[in-house]
Amino acid sequence: MNSRKLLMIPGPIEFKNEVLQSMAIPTPSHIDPDFIAVFANSLKLLKDICQCPSGQGFIVAGTGTLAMDMAAANLVEVGDKVLVVSTGYFGLRYAEILKRYGADVDILESEVGHIVPIDDVEKQLKSNNYKILAFTHVDTSTAVLNDARSIGALGKKYKVLTILDGVCSVAGEEIKQEEWGIDVVVTASQKAVGVPPGLALLVASPNAIKTFENRKSPVSNYYSDWTNWLPIMQAYENRQASYFGTPPVNLIIALEKSLDLILKEGLEHRFDRHKRAGKAMREAIKALGLELLTKNAETVANTLTAPLYPKNMDAKAFLQVVGDNGIVLAGGLLPELKDNYFRIGHMGSINKTDLLATVGAIETALKRNGYQHELGIGTAQVIKHF
Ligand SMILES: *Cc1c(COP(=O)(O)O)cnc(C)c1O
Repeated sequence: MNSRKLLMIPGPIEFKNEVLQSMAIPTPSHIDPDFIAVFANSLKLLKDICQCPSGQGFIVAGTGTLAMDMAAANLVEVGDKVLVVSTGYFGLRYAEILKRYGADVDILESEVGHIVPIDDVEKQLKSNNYKILAFTHVDTSTAVLNDARSIGALGKKYKVLTILDGVCSVAGEEIKQEEWGIDVVVTASQKAVGVPPGLALLVASPNAIKTFENRKSPVSNYYSDWTNWLPIMQAYENRQASYFGTPPVNLIIALEKSLDLILKEGLEHRFDRHKRAGKAMREAIKALGLELLTKNAETVANTLTAPLYPKNMDAKAFLQVVGDNGIVLAGGLLPELKDNYFRIGHMGSINKTDLLATVGAIETALKRNGYQHELGIGTAQVIKHF
């Protein structure tokens, strides 16, 4: 590939060389004692990242959507009342997944670029006997950050299982799964976790596992069924060989490496670095005179930014020039606003060089497409804030 382009999209992201090199080895057997130790450690580190010591980790070949699917398949029984608090694209996807397993789904939808006010969530929980509440932590379609702590508290108060879609937040935004009372965190390898695509990751609370164990009906998805996977995860944790489906050995080796690097950086430092990157990018965008899709500074994500195009900007031409300048950005994801905004991912190993190059490419593309601004006014904000 004619590369040296910087991948600044909300996944896959730029991966660290150490992570990529760790997996470039002849594939060991999935029951090799050394690999069993890697798997066991990865399960432990995953719980550390989610700050959920009492949780049960799952590492399975698949994508974030499979992790979402797995939580739904194992926790939903036909007729269960489920509330989806949706802030955009992936909230609506979760509603579809939950319906597949027979859930009776209500959707509380936010205005575009906003969260659903927490009082509205509480009112809805009061009005119905929900078994599960699912929500997106960082909404990848709008760059909205949900108040996971408050939603977790409501889940506890109303005895509702909470599922947090953390595909675009885990290892980038603060999550204290256990303290906040979140029952299931689902994520994937290719975003802030920093490993090439291919791993569905999930941490379930004891309460979620108990709900699964008390099911009256069998899980209607064979591959996702925890009846198959739980003994495998527990076997690896106990350093024993086991098999249900061949684990993606090299990816799990890379996962251990990345999780280890994340914890060595320190979660607090890492979240702070993401906050500074998010702030720098938003300030740069604003200095250029562009608006953000996410209106409220208190509920804005730090793993990505979603700017609106200036009037009359040709989205395709803009992204083309950005690409010619060595940066890959993502277009809009909300179907109704697709050509009105673009998305910049800044998570994982993101540094100042990446941010400067990205804002530089954006400035160039704006200028080339007829937008008037003082060159360098955006990049100055990166220097100032990061
Ligand atoms: C990317 C993403 C997904 C889907 O993950 P895949 O790995 O593409 O299946 C789900 N939810 C959120 C919030 C995401 O950002």
